[in-house]
Amino acid sequence: MSFDWDLEQLSFYRSIVTFAQQELNADLIENDRRSHFNQAGWQKCADFGILGWPISKEYGGQGLDPLTTILGLEGLGYGCKDNGLVFAINNHLWSCAVSIANFGTEAQKQQYLPALCQGTSMGGHAITEPNSGSAAFEMQTEAIPHGDYYILNGTKTFISNAPVADVYITFARTNLEVGAQQGISAFIIHKDLPGLTIEKEWEKSGLRTAPMGELVFKDCKVPVNHRLGKEGRGHNIFQSTISWERSFLFASQVGTMERIFEQCVSYAKKRKQFGQPIGSFQGVSNKIAEMKMRLELAKLILYKIGWLKKEGKQAFLESSISKVFISEGFMKTCQDAIQIHGARGYVTDYELERYFRDSIAGTIYAGTSEIHRNIISTLSGV
Ligand SMILES: Cc1cc2nc3c(=O)[nH]c(=O)nc-3n(C[C@H](O)[C@H](O)[C@H](O)COP(=O)(O)OP(=O)(O)OC[C@H]3O[C@@H](n4cnc5c(N)ncnc54)[C@H](O)[C@@H]3O)c2cc1C
Repeated sequence: MSFDWDLEQLSFYRSIVTFAQQELNADLIENDRRSHFNQAGWQKCADFGILGWPISKEYGGQGLDPLTTILGLEGLGYGCKDNGLVFAINNHLWSCAVSIANFGTEAQKQQYLPALCQGTSMGGHAITEPNSGSAAFEMQTEAIPHGDYYILNGTKTFISNAPVADVYITFARTNLEVGAQQGISAFIIHKDLPGLTIEKEWEKSGLRTAPMGELVFKDCKVPVNHRLGKEGRGHNIFQSTISWERSFLFASQVGTMERIFEQCVSYAKKRKQFGQPIGSFQGVSNKIAEMKMRLELAKLILYKIGWLKKEGKQAFLESSISKVFISEGFMKTCQDAIQIHGARGYVTDYELERYFRDSIAGTIYAGTSEIHRNIISTLSGV
């Protein structure tokens, strides 16, 4: 087992950090205040190739292997201080582009993937409904078959990227007679589909630069060739999608944790109280030690997942462990960073309070911490 990155990978990591630091960090406080999505930054990321990292070259992507993709996302999280933009990119990649790459027909891949890689099209995925969150498969949205099309009715809420996206992977019941395992299908829905409206844009506590909305479908006619995968396979597609998302999305948080850790070390050495650097007080240095422990362990589980995916193996248990460990570790690191910086940590100018607000959502989206603990205990045989 080797934990060495090769020279090419290290140079790739440095290039993404430099790109993100130079191109993506302007007007962060103001953009957060106004909940402004950085469209120009999005396009720069597309031009840099980020939106095509996991997609094969024949569809306009970069064809990176899972471990190198993880390293790149870590670099993006380290360099880019706009967690909302990083989240929007991850959401687009793992819940839309990779789903189409894994389950789309050849025609669907040709039609959607090049634009998703170029950033001229943005993706999202729509499963959550007002009455089905953690119990996602208790959804009420229906897509009733009518010959060569389906009639889609229902509401999807808390959908990331919805107000700015072009394409949504949308899940609906196509057979009301059977359970979720066979009765749900996935569809590739374009924002211009007649009958689809984006009715609400949610204002959030964190990740404010990543727009979130509600999709309402009223008697939408969805052609059969917009179905993703076979009819009734929505459950499998969702499980696969969410496994990729859980595995990779949090790589960026590890990069951000590393940057915050370094900032805290530097501050603890510089800031003096009672005639000494505050880092000489165990109350401060212990927090830094715990940050370091979380960071190192987060990398271990993350790289294990990258290796499993690279080997074509399943990572259901590992991705749940990773999701809980990294999202909660990120939140704790942000909270401790505020404490170490005292009042400076709490005020907007120093940005740490924003990171803390951004970090909370990671324990809710892509399956809550509680749901992942259920999965981990079930897969452990309880
Ligand atoms: C920033 C953000 C982005 C999101 N993006 C998307 C998106 O792009 N697409 C999408 O479809 N959805 C998205 N969501 C929605 C997200 O998937 C849901 O919020 C999540 O699944 C939880 O559902 P809920 O909010 O309805 O909470 P509920 O399911 O109502 O849960 C409420 C509480 O009860 C707990 N709970 C529920 N069931 C159990 C159980 N069996 N055991 C223990 N505890 C339980 C939960 O853990 C939680 O603490 C997003 C959410 C956020 C915050």
